[in-house]
Amino acid sequence: MTFTLHGLAVSGGIAIGHAYLVSHATLEVAHYSLPPRKVDDEVVRLGRAFDAVRAELAELRSGLLNDGTEARGELLAFVDLHSMILDDPLLLDEAGAYIRSRRCNAEWAIKRQMDRLVEQFEQIDDAYLRSRSADVVQVVERVIKALAGKRNRVSTRRRDTDSIVVAHDLSPADTIQFKAQRIAAFVTDLGGATSHTAIVARSLAIPALVGMHQARRLIQDDDMLIVDGVRGVLIINPDERILDEYRLRAREIEIERSKLKRLTGAVATTLDGEAVQLFANIELPQDVEQVREVEADGIGLFRTEFMFLNRDDLPDEDEQFEAYRSVVQAMKGKPVTLRTLDIGADKALRGAERSEANPALGLRAIRYCLAEPRMFVTQLRAILRAAHYGKVRIMLPMVAFQHEIESALAMVALAKQQLREANRKFDDRVEIGAMVEIPAAALALGTLMNHFSFLSIGTNDLIQYTLAIDRADEAVAHLYDPLHPAVLRLVQQVIAQAKRAGMPVAVCGEMAGEPQFARLLLGMGLRQFSMHPSQLLEVKREVLRCDCGDIAPRVIKLLRSDDPIRIREQLERINAGSGIVQ
Ligand code: PEP
Ligand code: MG
Repeated sequence: MTFTLHGLAVSGGIAIGHAYLVSHATLEVAHYSLPPRKVDDEVVRLGRAFDAVRAELAELRSGLLNDGTEARGELLAFVDLHSMILDDPLLLDEAGAYIRSRRCNAEWAIKRQMDRLVEQFEQIDDAYLRSRSADVVQVVERVIKALAGKRNRVSTRRRDTDSIVVAHDLSPADTIQFKAQRIAAFVTDLGGATSHTAIVARSLAIPALVGMHQARRLIQDDDMLIVDGVRGVLIINPDERILDEYRLRAREIEIERSKLKRLTGAVATTLDGEAVQLFANIELPQDVEQVREVEADGIGLFRTEFMFLNRDDLPDEDEQFEAYRSVVQAMKGKPVTLRTLDIGADKALRGAERSEANPALGLRAIRYCLAEPRMFVTQLRAILRAAHYGKVRIMLPMVAFQHEIESALAMVALAKQQLREANRKFDDRVEIGAMVEIPAAALALGTLMNHFSFLSIGTNDLIQYTLAIDRADEAVAHLYDPLHPAVLRLVQQVIAQAKRAGMPVAVCGEMAGEPQFARLLLGMGLRQFSMHPSQLLEVKREVLRCDCGDIAPRVIKLLRSDDPIRIREQLERINAGSGIVQ
């Protein structure tokens, strides 16, 4: 039976393919009965999985012992706690007994035991102890993965190019793993338009829908799906007529894309001769290939924290240095802006997940780095060394306080001093900039301008914090509005103030990659955009068609309005004739 679901389109295009349901290891565990003669083997299989996890944890532990980072103590404590849970007879013995009494598979037995333990934890009054149930889940997750012969990966049974991933929720760490595979599209029940999961999906340059609510429950593995990433529609089991229609539309989009490719070498200048720079956002070093394909002017945002996800250890200085250097060398002298670690909130390090009530307002980004100075200085040293091989800029996320800036700059000085003492080659004159992504930073911009050489507006977080909308929460996703007058005014004020002071300013949030906002931002005076490489040519087309002299006064008028309907109408008029679908 054909039916449709609606959600948020976060990455355009159309995909036609087969559903491929994915989940965290413990969410869906198969249940099957065993013949009596297989029961002993199953208990042995479970024991072997425990052994494998024990070995994994021991390896992790010895890695940590050789590591000099500040986080080491805390991480070691986690590893020890997980080893203790693993060795608790309540887990293996009880699950083994259950396999024998019920003649069921090991996954089912261990999952059931986990559920029982979690239930018991939930009864505990002490909030700290109660929260330790998460550790039990993590340990069992490891065991289930070991049973599947995997080490800490989201289950990925099929890797066909027409697979459409359907998940209830995926963390950014889960999502980034799909970069190594070829999948056709993405659909998740949870998530907002600028959640990091959506951002990664966009950087995969495949259609993606989030906030689908019930998709994971209603769709079955291998169902035929059409993902309409333009309109935010998912069609399940379409008939031939609908399929034909969408095949045609997919071809049209393909033709449109190949036309866009002709703009690759074109210089991004507006009709009235304003030069615009178009930079790229990347998550992993390998993304640099796409950046070169579209001939971006440089990298405006390298989200370095993604290199730290999906692993039990932290990359050491040399590993980071090699990764950064590979990007810097591949860019052949074009600027590479390395954002220092934006760890925390939805991008927690493995084993260091915290249960904060408001993670987006907690220990994230620069706050996290200042709380983990060794980890931060290690990264800074790696960046400074890579800077010797090209043009590197350091960008600090989420800064808002004068003392934070002073501490961060002191860490940069310390990293340089350590490199000097170790006789390492590095670039002493690396420019340091800041992201403007907290309203306080935007409103007291002088604090940032006094200390930094460039600014980049992170509209994703600026919108989240201005409107008090959790960008990852689909329940409030409808309120996430880049065109809210408060947001527009903040963005415009930052651009204007920076320009007056002669300070380079870019936008590197998702707004910069949306063609329908290109004229608006150009009209505000923006001349540096940073976005996913897959969006760059479309934005370039807008730049080439724009007359800033004509548009600027109309944008100023739009900014005076407090009426959301009028703002949208005016933007439509500004965009009229550019071919943009609003
Ligand atoms: C932003 O907040 O706009 C930004 C570019 O950073 P991130 O999306 O990684 O938080
Ligand atoms: Mg941000």
